[in-house]
Amino acid sequence: MKAKIGNPNEPWCPVCEDHTEYHLKEIRPGKTRAMYTCNECGSNTWSPTNPFLFGVVVIVLILGLNFLMFAADKNNTAQLQPGEILLGKVAALGMSIFMLAVVWGNSKHWRKFQKWRKKLYQEKIDAVLEQK
Ligand SMILES: [Zn+2]
Repeated sequence: MKAKIGNPNEPWCPVCEDHTEYHLKEIRPGKTRAMYTCNECGSNTWSPTNPFLFGVVVIVLILGLNFLMFAADKNNTAQLQPGEILLGKVAALGMSIFMLAVVWGNSKHWRKFQKWRKKLYQEKIDAVLEQK
């Protein structure tokens, strides 16, 4: 059992509300992705990333991606077919929506983690005060 401290660099399970033991998530046998599965409840767990920094990075990526597709459409230096440009735009839009969903999910995760950490520290402070 790990020490009960709120560490944003460690995966934190939103279901168990704890730093539980975890393993890398498997999409297919032998294939893992940068997401963890909680050993206790089997749900997704990951280290809470500061949603502000994460959001800024994603917005820059989204703007870059859409700008790229817009520029490709306007200048068409890559000699793309109209169908390819449309496909690229749909892909850029899909990626944008996917990334926003990730940001949203992470922000919810972060807020829950912060609430839990605050409660944990309050309990520790209360315990110290009671000893006096
Ligand atoms: Zn769990």
